[in-house]
Formats: sequence, C-alpha cells, structure tokens
Amino acid sequence: MRITVLSGGIGGATFVGGLLDEVGADADVTVVGNTADDIWLFGLKVCPDLDTLMYTLGGGIDPERRWGRADETWSVKEELAAYGAQPTWFGLGDRDVATHLVRTQMLEAGYPLSEVTRALCVRWEPGVTLLPMTDDRVETHVVIEDEGQRSAVHFQEYWVRLRAAVPAHGVVMIGIDEARPGPGVLEAIAEADVVLVPPSNPVVSVGPILAVPGISDALRATKAPVVGVSPIIGSGAVRGMADQLLTGLGVEVSAGAVGALYGSRSGDGVLDGWLVDTSDESQLPAVAAAGLEGRAVPLYMSDAGTTRTLAADALALAREIGTRS
Ligand code: GDP
Ligand code: CA
Repeated sequence: MRITVLSGGIGGATFVGGLLDEVGADADVTVVGNTADDIWLFGLKVCPDLDTLMYTLGGGIDPERRWGRADETWSVKEELAAYGAQPTWFGLGDRDVATHLVRTQMLEAGYPLSEVTRALCVRWEPGVTLLPMTDDRVETHVVIEDEGQRSAVHFQEYWVRLRAAVPAHGVVMIGIDEARPGPGVLEAIAEADVVLVPPSNPVVSVGPILAVPGISDALRATKAPVVGVSPIIGSGAVRGMADQLLTGLGVEVSAGAVGALYGSRSGDGVLDGWLVDTSDESQLPAVAAAGLEGRAVPLYMSDAGTTRTLAADALALAREIGTRS
C-alpha cells in the first residue's frame, strides 16, 4: 500500500509515527513536508517542519519540547547572544546547528533542498520518503497590527518571538505563485492508494502545501481517497496557534469549519473524508454539509497507542470511501 501524507511539524510528525506503527513494513509512506516555515538565520538554512519530521521519525527529537534534538546544549546560542547578534529568540541548539550547517553547505554547492533532505535522511532513517513540498523558496509572513501600523513578520518571528499573542490579519506566502512542486510530490499523490492530511496547522502548514501550484489539482485528480484529521478539538487548537490564525482569516475555530475550509473533492476542495473528535460529534452535520464523509473518533494523540488507533481510524475511513467510489 502506498500512503502519502501532507504534513507540518509536530502534529503531523506525531501522526506519521502512529501511522508507521499501524502499517509496519506493509506500506510505502511518503511525507510531503511544509517548507514555508523555513528561515535563514546567521547564514544557515533552517527547515523547522522537515527537521521535526526527520528527528521525530528518526528517534532524535527532544521528547518534551517536541522540536529540536534530544540531549541538546545551547553554547552557540549563548555565544551569539553575548555578541548581541539578532535574532536571539530562535532556539538554535548546538546539535541542531550541525544539521543546518550540512544543509546549507549542500545548498551552496548547488544541490536542491530535496536532494539535501534525502542526504540528511540517510543518517536518520525516518522510515518514510520525506519530500519537501517544493525546492523553491517560499516564506510565510504574518500580517500584524502594532500600534495602528500594519506590518508583516516572518512566521517564525510571529510564533516564537511574539508567541502568536498579537492578532493576525492574514498570512502572505511569499514566492508561492512561482513555486513548483518538489521532485516526486505530484507522483506521490497521483500514485498513492491513500492520501492523508494529519492534524497539522491548516493555515501555515497544510495551507502552503496546497497552495503550491499543481498540488491541489493533483489531489483532486488522484484515484486515492483523501482523508483529513482535524487539528481542532472543541473550540481550540490542541497545541499551537491554529486558532489565532484561523480567527485572523475569518474562519470559525471548529473541526467542522476547518473541514469546510479544505472542502470536498465533490466540489472544488481537496478532501473526501474528515475525522473529528468524539467530543465534536455535534460537528458531523456541518461536515456532511461541506460534502465530506465525517466520523467522530478520539483525536487526542496522548501516547503511542492512541496515535496508532487514530491512524488506523483514518485508514479505515479511507478504505470505506475507496471501496464505494
Ligand atoms: P507545527 O508545524 O509544529 O505547528 O505542526 P503541525 O502544523 O503539524 O501541527 C500543529 C497542529 O497540530 C496544531 O493545530 C494542533 O492543534 C494539532 N495537534 C497537536 N497535537 C494534536 C493531537 O493530539 N490531536 C489533534 N487532533 N491535533 C493535534
Ligand atoms: Ca510548522
């Protein structure tokens, strides 16, 4: 079975871990990772979502923070701060810096990000084929209002420095219109037996992947069922700031509204099925009204067992949809 997943960082990586537990060696899993969070810092190319996926699935993640390396030390960050070098708000750990050095060196030698990612994965063996959504530079900036002045800041600055505490008025994905899908991305969608959208941030993680010209069309064209998992349980994001960004875009913060935002392939959307939490059963009529096949199952990935069960539930819904069409 070939499974393709469109993923952001923490939520997506956790889900894919459960998916691998569920399917074992029987499946060939490709993860298309968001790269619109990427940022250049001190001359280094940092790819937060690709690294979270690679470290989580490869056993190198810090289990508490859920980003960056385990057993991390922070000498580089402290030394930079001692020089007063900006920005000081981004967590560049010493072990993590080695990843960014290798990546940057390869990029400067002329390798595209997809080749670099493949090379980094030789060490981490994440158990999936990890593909950047694009090799082209795309950066999400968030439009904020500060003392009556509108300005745009890099997504990482909005999230890490401002902690998403400032209202967002919209997001701009710089470079997205010229971006081309990374090598293998369209094929992974076209040739999949199942496509899954994990509980990732719909605005800044899955949103950019869907906005790369050609990717949404590939999702609408694939014969595979496309099933998504809500990142919203009740009226908030489980972790992170999807709620702030949704509010900024004028989308109601609910599992049903996020499903409707992705939309149904029977209309001009990208999904067939949508999982909401058992506590959100009342959302199912809204999910159906959006043209999606909905199911209410436990969505909270509290441990490896619940995460694996969630992956199994997503596959079961995909199978049901697949056999009917
Ligand atoms: P990021 O790139 O690190 O922000 O990670 P993602 O975009 O992959 O995931 C962040 C989203 O995952 C947030 O919107 C959370 O609401 C969601 N999330 C995190 N943990 C869980 C969970 O246990 N269950 C569900 N359903 N969603 C979760
Ligand atoms: Ca991210």
